[in-house]
Amino acid sequence: IRQHLVKAKKLEAVEQMGAAISHEIRNPLTAALGFVQLLQESDLDEKKRDLYLSLVKGELESAERVIQDYLTFSKPSFHTLEELNVSEELAHVLTILQPLTNQNSVLVETNFSLNGLIKADRQKFHQCFLNLIKNAIESMPDGGVLYIETQSTSSQVTIQIKDSGVGMTRAQIERLGEPYYSTKEVKGTGLGMMVVYSIVRAMKGTIRVDSEPEKGTVFQISFPAY
Ligand code: ADP
Ligand code: MG
Repeated sequence: IRQHLVKAKKLEAVEQMGAAISHEIRNPLTAALGFVQLLQESDLDEKKRDLYLSLVKGELESAERVIQDYLTFSKPSFHTLEELNVSEELAHVLTILQPLTNQNSVLVETNFSLNGLIKADRQKFHQCFLNLIKNAIESMPDGGVLYIETQSTSSQVTIQIKDSGVGMTRAQIERLGEPYYSTKEVKGTGLGMMVVYSIVRAMKGTIRVDSEPEKGTVFQISFPAY
């Protein structure tokens, strides 16, 4: 009975989160729709038209950001555990982030171990590292170096993500993972690290953060080896 209660509670938390997220997506969509309706009015001068169009664009981008941070790889129903080679999966995430890497003039260096197998849900693994690597790239808006390393022993697989970006203060590090905590103003959702922590916890992994303002940040994530 006790186990059932715990499960029910967990489900409730997930449902509440789902409700909060659909709210985060619906709000900008509703706003965009409102501006589209205004655009349909016949006697609209060019200045107003441009303003409404840029507002529509901004709202749609905001909805897209929530989907990328929270839902990009989510799929309906069952979660299958597979044997994953972490280096191969990280290479895939880097490919997805190539446009952002180019846009920020970020140089990518990798040192991938050939081994390093874990048992995990591939989509969740991708969602987690998409958020970590995206944050690293976003911390270097004027360029820098992103270094990703994987290491494996018989008991652990460790992934290190290092950037030469803006870094964080101790107080900022302590707020990581708090829902909606973001220093990126309109460009942030504050959902990415919450997703990271919840996935790593579910995978029985650990997260270490070392950061220094203006120097950069290192995230070290370890999982039990398969
Ligand atoms: P978002 O990216 O939408 O702001 P996240 O939850 O992904 O939200 O991250 C929360 C905050 O943590 C960011 O706004 C940023 O201040 C900080 N942060 C996360 N990763 C890094 C990093 N690699 N370098 C500097 N700051 C970071
Ligand atoms: Mg983020």
